[in-house]
Amino acid sequence: MTRQRELIYGIVSAAPEHRTAEEIYDLARAQMPSLARGTVYRNLGLLVREGLIRKLEMPEAPARYDREPGPHPHLVCQRCGRVEDLATPEALLASIQADLPGPITGYDLKLYHICPACRGSGKDGV
Ligand SMILES: [Zn+2]
Ligand SMILES: [Zn+2]
Repeated sequence: MTRQRELIYGIVSAAPEHRTAEEIYDLARAQMPSLARGTVYRNLGLLVREGLIRKLEMPEAPARYDREPGPHPHLVCQRCGRVEDLATPEALLASIQADLPGPITGYDLKLYHICPACRGSGKDGV
């Protein structure tokens, strides 16, 4: 792994936050000021292809990068876009699986809400 890729992988894997490429770029450049934006995007793509991280496509918003490459559901704030991990819904998957002719090989599940921080600001008349 190149030094750049190690740095970028380190940023994604260090925190449970699901950051956008721009956020990762800002954090990476704080440590390696010479880093180009294109290098960050290219290395994120390589890390996804290698299966070390996962890319989460977001509707009408930039994609986010997840340190957990295995399938798991997400809770997304509709206001600020904050993404949290949810536990695997074993019972839900099992009940869906029961009606299918073959095994489920993966899934992409997002649940939406308004996060506590955004709900809090709404009380102030925003
Ligand atoms: Zn929010
Ligand atoms: Zn996740």
